[in-house]
Amino acid sequence: MKIALLSGKGGTGKTNISVNLFENLKNATLIDTDVEEPNSHLYFDTKISKTIDVTKKYPIIDMSKCTLCGKCGDFCNFNAIIPTKKKVIVFKDLCHECLGCKIVCEENAISFDDKLTGKIFNHTVDNKQFLYGDLEVGEVSGVKIIEKLREITKDENILLIDSPPGTSCSAVSSVSEVDYAIVIAEPTPFGVSDLKMVVTMLRDINIPFGVVINKAFTGSKEIYDYLVCENIELIEEIKFDKEFANISGSGELISKKSVYFKEKIQNIIRKVLGDEYVS
Ligand code: SF4
Ligand code: SF4
Repeated sequence: MKIALLSGKGGTGKTNISVNLFENLKNATLIDTDVEEPNSHLYFDTKISKTIDVTKKYPIIDMSKCTLCGKCGDFCNFNAIIPTKKKVIVFKDLCHECLGCKIVCEENAISFDDKLTGKIFNHTVDNKQFLYGDLEVGEVSGVKIIEKLREITKDENILLIDSPPGTSCSAVSSVSEVDYAIVIAEPTPFGVSDLKMVVTMLRDINIPFGVVINKAFTGSKEIYDYLVCENIELIEEIKFDKEFANISGSGELISKKSVYFKEKIQNIIRKVLGDEYVS
């Protein structure tokens, strides 16, 4: 079963819940697909067992063959290749690797080279696999790294996916073809508005989901009314406690220090997967 953890924005406690679920699951693999800001690895004392480079292709132009006909620029939907009066300019970061410019170039002036877009780090934690991706500075899209993370872990029995916050292409990519999504939300007016965007996305791509309210009992009732009105499952509520922030801030797993938090995490596992998966 593949389970994605999502939130409408950063700072909801999504990563905290992901790493604590991983800690309390008997057998599971965790991937951190928040490749612009991966931080799950900060909670584990482990050594990297493998590093994988993720590359992307970009066009290079042989100007001795190019006639500056402009067909490549006309074809490219992403403005990644722009023929000017004197040369063809390529914006590597904008290229989506469709290879179409090469196909339309009648002079055979276009070939492709590889560029590093990010890395994947593969760890072992208590005999369980944990991987995270890290986008290179200056790269604009982490989708390729997320796709690689998903490909590497496609045969895992229980896969937890710590998704990027929001509803960007990266978030959609991390949640595609999962069996269930857990949305982490806060009981504030902004929290409700962010939650609504995630709910729309999940319904658009037909992913069943439920909601965990984090920092519960501190805000308004609005989120509860919304869940009832939209017939959305409330999986669990976790209270706000400053001590949780202190524990997490020191890089420790809250479920190792708080019986209350551990019970909440185990309840989530029971409700989403079943008793037999609690470690
Ligand atoms: S399509 Fe080929 S020949 Fe035409 S401008 Fe582009 S690279 Fe040059
Ligand atoms: S490979 Fe596709 S996206 Fe990249 S420059 Fe060529 S046409 Fe544009």
